[in-house]
Amino acid sequence: MVIYEPADLHAGPTLVVGDAAGLADPFTGEGIYAALYSACLAAEVIAEQVNWQVPDLGGYTSLVRERMGPELANAFRVTRWFFPASGLVHRLLHRHQGLATCMLQVIAGDLPYTSFFDACRNQPALLFCPGGHDRTAIFEIVRAPRG
Ligand SMILES: Cc1cc2nc3c(=O)[nH]c(=O)nc-3n(C[C@H](O)[C@H](O)[C@H](O)COP(=O)(O)OP(=O)(O)OC[C@H]3O[C@@H](n4cnc5c(N)ncnc54)[C@H](O)[C@@H]3O)c2cc1C
Repeated sequence: MVIYEPADLHAGPTLVVGDAAGLADPFTGEGIYAALYSACLAAEVIAEQVNWQVPDLGGYTSLVRERMGPELANAFRVTRWFFPASGLVHRLLHRHQGLATCMLQVIAGDLPYTSFFDACRNQPALLFCPGGHDRTAIFEIVRAPRG
């Protein structure tokens, strides 16, 4: 199981956001949304604690894990099987129009990664697959958390 557990994203009075925090999508390489969203989370925590005698910026790391962690973990999961099993992926997307559309929507940012895993599970034909990397990829799909 892939769990995204970023290291502490705070130290003393400093918070790290965006690329510096390693939050770019590992599959698409896109990081503008993550930079802006993590900056918003940082602002949320700072605004809440601005008058505290002893601020606790650890809340920021927790917030990033909670709000961004599941989708990033799924992006890591897709990255892990997509490239080593590119032959399988190509065949799947070629044969299953619905999966191809779903993958495009995920890449466009219109659907979360979990939607792709769910779409794969709804294709019984995927359970019949050859060995090697392909089989590992299928196991990854089947074991992925449901959206
Ligand atoms: C070629 C390329 C194409 C990309 N295309 C896309 C895309 O289409 N969509 C997408 O979502 N993402 C894309 N990305 C990724 C995206 O650019 C980054 O994920 C995003 O810019 C991260 O924002 P950031 O604010 O975290 O970091 P940055 O945008 O890198 O900003 C960090 C800033 O800090 C400054 N800096 C660094 N060190 C210091 C210092 N010591 N003192 C002061 N300033 C400092 C830097 O000069 C920089 O201006 C692309 C990246 C590359 C390289």
